Amino acid sequence: MTSGAYDVVGLFAASGQRAYGERLTQLHHALQCAALARRDRADDEVVMAALLHDVGHLTEDAAEAPQRHHGSAGAVLLQARVPPRVAWLIEHHVVAKRYLVTVDPRYAGLLSPASQRSLVMQGARLTFDEISLLEVHPWFGDVLRLRRWDDAAKQPEMDCEPLLEFRPLLERWFGAQHWPSGAGIDRSPTAIR
Ligand code: FE
Ligand code: FE
Repeated sequence: MTSGAYDVVGLFAASGQRAYGERLTQLHHALQCAALARRDRADDEVVMAALLHDVGHLTEDAAEAPQRHHGSAGAVLLQARVPPRVAWLIEHHVVAKRYLVTVDPRYAGLLSPASQRSLVMQGARLTFDEISLLEVHPWFGDVLRLRRWDDAAKQPEMDCEPLLEFRPLLERWFGAQHWPSGAGIDRSPTAIR
């Protein structure tokens, strides 16, 4: 990890109001995911991974592919600032979806339409070897939990705390942040009408 501030709040201020789909903004989806992680008493690293798992969507619009997707883009962006576990979880939340699709026949049916479409581009089912490799990873349990919160964090009417509530966590790893008002980061998000 390197020291010095990195303007992750600025990323959300600039692009957090982009549509995520399903009547949510990107920021609302991130806040819901982090709120669900906190509700389940996840530790700080896992809460941070939940909050930041889709930052790759804020910085680029590149097409998804099995080895290069918004998870890997987000991990590359943040890996110098966050603990290795956080970067790994951000990167692997995409492959966790592929894992669940492969081992749980009901899971694909539970995915949102947008998530089903991206799944095809991300590579769909894993091979036996890929499954075995993932299952023995020490953070495998964490990434499955992250995936479940991610899938649940698509409720337009769900109340959650503003990004400002995560200030201590964010500033621990990213340094002092600028918190502009009027960019949606100091108030609770609402559904897109
Ligand atoms: Fe994602
Ligand atoms: Fe997500």
